[in-house]
Amino acid sequence: MDQGLIFNIQRYSVHDGGGIRTLIFLKGCPLRCPWCSNPESRKKVEPASWRKNGKIEQVGTWRSKDELLDEVLKDDIFYRTSGGGVTLSGGEVLMQAEFAGEFLKEVKNLGIHTAIETTGCFPIERIEKIVPYVDQVLFDLKIMDQKEAKRIIGIDPMIVEENFDYLLRNKEIQVIPRIPLIPEYTTNKINIQQIINFLVERQIKEVHLLPFHQYGSSKYDYLGWEYRMKNVPTLNEDEIQAIKEHFEKFEIAANIDGLE
Ligand code: SF4
Repeated sequence: MDQGLIFNIQRYSVHDGGGIRTLIFLKGCPLRCPWCSNPESRKKVEPASWRKNGKIEQVGTWRSKDELLDEVLKDDIFYRTSGGGVTLSGGEVLMQAEFAGEFLKEVKNLGIHTAIETTGCFPIERIEKIVPYVDQVLFDLKIMDQKEAKRIIGIDPMIVEENFDYLLRNKEIQVIPRIPLIPEYTTNKINIQQIINFLVERQIKEVHLLPFHQYGSSKYDYLGWEYRMKNVPTLNEDEIQAIKEHFEKFEIAANIDGLE
């Protein structure tokens, strides 16, 4: 794969991996999280369009590895001085696993730290294409109940679990679970406890919590899609703190991270 379909590049990010990073957003995601703040990334790996400020705009541009490398290298000095690097996000990176692996190989060969964000929703063969070239995986854990996960977001937790364990066995990779805190979906006591149990079984000592926000809501208007989270309030600080403390009771350090 010489080209990847990219819908955004964000420089100077201090979330989504350590240090100062360039985030590259790959288009395409088979899931349907109702809270998704990048709905323009969803569905197929093909350009989409939306109407923004009265104009039709294309979402997603095919970019070669060399073009992306040129972009990434602009901030090489920041990666080296801050301990940062390059993070591939989405969408779901595994939709373009071959391109992602080939691109990260080149980034890593330049001595730059590499990370991906993933939901781990595809069979292992896709992750295998990336694993040799990635230093850190920010791995989303959302809804643990099998039936609910399939019904609400269209993911199979068994595949997620298998991928998570596969990555944990690779000692070269740092795996950091990320939990979006979404009222009415992920923050109920049962789901949080299921996530904690899953992490305790695997002796995981650190997670990132991503509190729900409404930043993506206008994008649904651009796309002409219904936004089901319109009336869902964000969590207040006390609620977020209570969830954080609950993780800490199980000796899991919970960092409040950037927002999903
Ligand atoms: S996995 Fe991420 S990109 Fe895909 S629908 Fe869910 S929130 Fe959106």
